[in-house]
Amino acid sequence: MSILRTENLSKTFISRHGIIAAEKTEALKDINIRLEEKELIGIVGASGSGKSTLAKLLVFLYRPTGGKIYYMDEDITKYRGKDVKKYRKKIQMVFQDPYASLDPNHSVEWHIKRPLILSRYNGDLDNRIDELLDMVTLNKSYRAKFPHQLSGGQRQRVYLARTLAVSPEVLIADEPVSMLDVSVRIEILTLLQRIKEQLGISIIYITHDLNTVSMITSRLYVMHQGMVVENGDTDSIINRPSNEYTRKLIAAAPNPYKRI
Ligand code: ADP
Ligand code: MG
Repeated sequence: MSILRTENLSKTFISRHGIIAAEKTEALKDINIRLEEKELIGIVGASGSGKSTLAKLLVFLYRPTGGKIYYMDEDITKYRGKDVKKYRKKIQMVFQDPYASLDPNHSVEWHIKRPLILSRYNGDLDNRIDELLDMVTLNKSYRAKFPHQLSGGQRQRVYLARTLAVSPEVLIADEPVSMLDVSVRIEILTLLQRIKEQLGISIIYITHDLNTVSMITSRLYVMHQGMVVENGDTDSIINRPSNEYTRKLIAAAPNPYKRI
């Protein structure tokens, strides 16, 4: 049984201009993906291909206009109220912009403590905060720091610790390193991989970057214009892409290992 699975998932945005004119954007068309337990898969595609829309549907920030999402074989698209709240704890999202995701008025400790309190954590709060910081390889001294004292990579680690505070089963990371310096990208991605191993959670890594996706994922979905155009084993797709669009994407990707 897949932990998370979609069936012909679709999302059409309708933007109204005045009373008569309306513009329709078919952001997602009949998406079928699956995530197995303890798997780290990738979703790759150019900007505008629908990746973030898919992520937001999976975490219930948007409602689909068609199709279904199954969590452990249960259709969650019918959820309302309490069920949505319960589901939202199991599946957490890490966003692209580490500068926007933390509140500048609050310390690192506050950011991690808050979800623990809201989820009624009944163990020792102090220990748990240290443990969560340790998971993202930050030491205790970071508790008292404020966001402006942190680098982009450190902010992303703090945000990750915050999402892990509610013990999610699935993590959806939407371009988590694309705003970070190249030197810290690998560190954060390796951390994701380690967290997956240590906590046994399942992760969807969303990116436009074929190089990083090939480093950490086992399976891949390639998106183009709101559709999945190719999927399979990451190595096979990178080495022997069968879809014309995938081939273009690979040809256009800069190879950081190539020596000039
Ligand atoms: P990606 O994350 O791959 O860059 P998005 O999911 O953000 O792609 O966008 C997919 C398409 O849906 C784009 O054409 C975008 O303009 C459109 N879109 C995304 N969000 C909205 C929205 N809230 N309202 C209208 N159109 C949207
Ligand atoms: Mg996006």
